[in-house]
Amino acid sequence: MKKITKKLKKKLKSYNLKLKEECGVFGVSNNTDASALTALGLHALQHRGQEGCGIVSFDGKKYHSEKRFGLVGDNFSKEKVLKNLSGNYAIGHNRYSTTGENTLRNIQPFFADTNAGGIGVAHNGNLTNSITLRNKLVEDGAIFHTTSDTETIVHLIAKSKRNKTIDKIIDAIFQIQGGYALVMLTQNILIGVRDPFGIRPLVIGKLKDSYVFTSETCALDIIGAKFIRDVENGEVVFIENNELKSIKPFPLRKVRPCVFEYIYFARPDSILNGKSAYEYRKNFGIELAKENNIDADIIVPVPDSGNSAAIGFSQHLGKNFELGLIRNHYVGRTFIEPSQKIRSLGVKLKLNANKSSIKGKKIILIDDSLVRGTTSYKIVKMLYDAGAKEVHVRIACPEIRYPDFYGVDTPTKKELLAANKTNDEICDYIGAKSLKFLSIEGMYKAMGFDKRNETYPQLTDHYFTGDYPVKPIDKLGDDKITQLSLLSTASNN
Ligand code: AMP
Repeated sequence: MKKITKKLKKKLKSYNLKLKEECGVFGVSNNTDASALTALGLHALQHRGQEGCGIVSFDGKKYHSEKRFGLVGDNFSKEKVLKNLSGNYAIGHNRYSTTGENTLRNIQPFFADTNAGGIGVAHNGNLTNSITLRNKLVEDGAIFHTTSDTETIVHLIAKSKRNKTIDKIIDAIFQIQGGYALVMLTQNILIGVRDPFGIRPLVIGKLKDSYVFTSETCALDIIGAKFIRDVENGEVVFIENNELKSIKPFPLRKVRPCVFEYIYFARPDSILNGKSAYEYRKNFGIELAKENNIDADIIVPVPDSGNSAAIGFSQHLGKNFELGLIRNHYVGRTFIEPSQKIRSLGVKLKLNANKSSIKGKKIILIDDSLVRGTTSYKIVKMLYDAGAKEVHVRIACPEIRYPDFYGVDTPTKKELLAANKTNDEICDYIGAKSLKFLSIEGMYKAMGFDKRNETYPQLTDHYFTGDYPVKPIDKLGDDKITQLSLLSTASNN
C-alpha cells in the first residue's frame, strides 16, 4: 500500500476537496420546453440535494447556463430565468454537499469547451480515484476551477486525443472509478452513463419525441414521461438524431446498486428494480416486525424517513400506528446542515412530540437508519419528556459499520455509532428502553433477494458488510478522504 506523504496530505487539505455528494441529475432531448421540463424534473429530485441547482441548455448554436444556491422552486420557477435557458436540449443538477466549500463555482452542471465542441456534465456520485487523477492532471498543467471531483471528468474528456465526443467520454470513464451517474450534453447529443457496478442510479424515460435521463422515476412522473428502462451498469447511452444508441465499453459485470437508495435516498414513489421504494421500505418494516421481540401500545414513525417501514411494521403486528412526532416541513433534511452542532439543532427545528398521542404509552419508534445516533438520541428524549412510558427503538436497516466512498454522505468510521459500540451501548447512548436493527438476512428477504441464490442481484451493501465493490487502496487519516490508486480494480463482480 502506498504511503501517503506529509506533502500529499498538505496538498489535499489545500484543495479543500469536496468528495461527498449525493445529487440528482436530469436531462431532456428534443423538446421546445427543455429547460422548463428540466426545472420540473429537478424539483421532483429536490430530496437528493438542496444546496444548489443548475441547468445548462443548448439552442443549436450556443450553450446557456444558470446556477443558483438553494431550491429549484425558488430559482427556476421564474419565466425570466428559464428564458435565459433557450434550446431544445437541457441537463440539470441538484447539489448536496456536507463539509467544505459551498460556492457557486461548485454548483453543476459543469461546462467546458473542448476541441470537439462544448460539453455540459452533471454528476451524481463520488469518484474514488479523483485525487490521484487530479494530481496527475495538475502536474500536467491543468488548472482546476472547482473543488469537485466532477471537474476531473471534464478535464479527462477535454484532454482525450480521440476525435468524437462519445469516444472522448469513453476514454474518460475508463480512467475514473467509484460510483457515478452522469448526464451530459454536447451539441445535440444527450448522454447518460452509469458506473460499471451501477452503484448510482440512472433511468431513461420518453415524453413523445423526447428522451429523458433522470436519477429517479419520480422525475418522469412529474412531466408525464414514460419509464423506458434503467441505464445499465457500465452502459453509455446517447440520444443522437432522436435515436437511442448504446455502448457497453466495460467487461460485463453483475449490477450492484447501492442499497441506501432502497433504504433512504429514493423518494418513496420512485420505482427501483420494478418496485416502489415505498414497497421495499414497508417490507423492511414487516421483516423488522417479524424479528421484533416486544409488545407495545403504539407504533410511531420518525417522519418522514421512518414512515413507510412503520406502516409495514404496524400492519404486520396489527398495532396502532400513531403520529407521535410532527414534522415541520419547512426545514430540509437534518444532514443538510454541515456541522454536528447545527445538525443537533436541526432535529429540534424539524420535529416535535405530539403529546396527546404518546402520553403514558409504551412506544415502538421506527426509523429507516441510525448513523451517528443524533436523531434517535434527540427523539427518544423528546418522547420521554412528553410523557411516554417506554420507548423501544427499531431500525429498519442493519447496523451501519462502514463508511461510504461512492457518493453517500456517511461520516467516518469513528463517528458511526454501530462501528464503535455494541447494541446495548448504543441503546444506552440513545436512552431507549430497547433497540433492535433489521438483520442483513431480513433486509434481503424484504427485498425479495436471497443472498444465497446467485441468480439474485447483489447490492452494494458495504455499509453493513464492509464489502466494497471498488476497493479503497490508500486511505487518508480516518477514512474521510480516500486516496485510491488508479489501478484499483473492482473485485466482486
Ligand atoms: P443519525 O441521526 O446520525 O443517526 O442519522 C439517522 C437519520 O438520518 C435517519 O433519520 C435517516 O433517515 C437520516 N439519514 C441517514 N443517512 C443519511 C444520509 N446519508 N443523508 C441524509 N440523511 C441521512
